Amino acid sequence: MKKILLVFMLGYLLPLVSLAQDTEAETLLKSRSNFFSREIVQIAPDVYTAVGYSPANSSMIVGDDGVVIIDVGMSPDHAADIEAAFQEISQLPVKGIIYTHGHGDHTGGASAFIGDEAPEIWAMENFGIEDSPLIAAGLTIQRQRGSKQAGFALPDELRINNGIAPAMRPGNANPFSANESGSINTMPTHTFAEGRKQIEIAGVTLELVHAPGETNDQLYVWYPDQKTLFAGDNLYRSFPNLYAIRGTPYRDVFAWVESMDKMLEEDAEAVVPGHTYPFIGIEESRGALQNHRDAIKFVHDKTVEGMNAGMTEDALAATVRLPEHLASDPNLGEYYGKVSWAVRSIFNGYLGWYDGNPANLSPLSRKEEALRIAALAGGAEILLETAKSALANGDVQWASQLSDYLLALNEGNNEAKNIKADALTIQARNSSNALARNYYLTIANQLRQEAGSE
Ligand SMILES: [Zn+2]
Repeated sequence: MKKILLVFMLGYLLPLVSLAQDTEAETLLKSRSNFFSREIVQIAPDVYTAVGYSPANSSMIVGDDGVVIIDVGMSPDHAADIEAAFQEISQLPVKGIIYTHGHGDHTGGASAFIGDEAPEIWAMENFGIEDSPLIAAGLTIQRQRGSKQAGFALPDELRINNGIAPAMRPGNANPFSANESGSINTMPTHTFAEGRKQIEIAGVTLELVHAPGETNDQLYVWYPDQKTLFAGDNLYRSFPNLYAIRGTPYRDVFAWVESMDKMLEEDAEAVVPGHTYPFIGIEESRGALQNHRDAIKFVHDKTVEGMNAGMTEDALAATVRLPEHLASDPNLGEYYGKVSWAVRSIFNGYLGWYDGNPANLSPLSRKEEALRIAALAGGAEILLETAKSALANGDVQWASQLSDYLLALNEGNNEAKNIKADALTIQARNSSNALARNYYLTIANQLRQEAGSE
């Protein structure tokens, strides 16, 4: 709490947010933790899912002479706990591992499941495709941003959860992309390129289906014998992360809808999402798939419709809203993904950065704009006073934007940094989107450090 208390020494905020109690957003976000508390859930007679042992779910199917593991947790430490819990149910050896996609929170723990009898490891042929072009290009910033969205640099007391997962730390595993694990091969040994692939492991017949969505290397696993579907990250209990603020290549939202349609056609009696508590029963399973599918389709179609009408990205982000029957579905709350971010991503994914307004083809630099805004205000001092009163009045987004003008004029303006840090802290505390909260708080801490105010 030390860091938050320091904020209040500045004195602007005392009337606005009481530290003694959680904000409404914090209470709501905390309540979501019930959907990923640590538990082994029996999904079907031979299917078990470890929820809350690691940020992502890990499942076990018990076969005749071995088990199949679907996703393996973020780190070998987490996976060792999962493996121990699964061992209490079955001591059969791991004969197969399936990765639903290449993100490290689903693949990083593999070594804990690999014994002397090396299992088949299945994934899509383009496994890891979301990250590999960035690595090839020499990009590393997405990992730093990823740490900010996950809140890895925040002290424990400021972290609530990740909206769809407990707040954990990855150790030396990379939580954002598939990684090799020392001398043990944890990379796929078996892949397929497209469509549907039937496989048999330990007497269990499974269908692996390419389902591009959150990533292009996404697959879902269909276990027809026990009517169980493992959805990977195309489904979890939040509005989906159609765009991740850490920065990723375009997530093909149109293909995501088609993948949801395929999953609906399976008529599953249980659906295990990539994160959060499973959906059990035909009605709950269908309802979850249908509402998520409809929400993604709605946001896609509304954005395209607005684009065709000449609306800008900003205008669309400010106006596209889910219809009431979807907005009120608690499993479509914006705890992880966010509709306005999705809209921007769809716009950019199809048309790139230019919004169609020629005033934005060669805009003034931030500094040139700030000089003019300051002149308009009557000087930088008045700009600073206005930022302070915006903060005091709870107009925190404006306080943050005014601080940016002040910082564009003078990047060493510590007062502006402190105002922005306080504004971001209030925004964080009033956001039930975990990624936004983490990012706001991380940057707020960074600004305070720079300003020497902590
Ligand atoms: Zn995931």
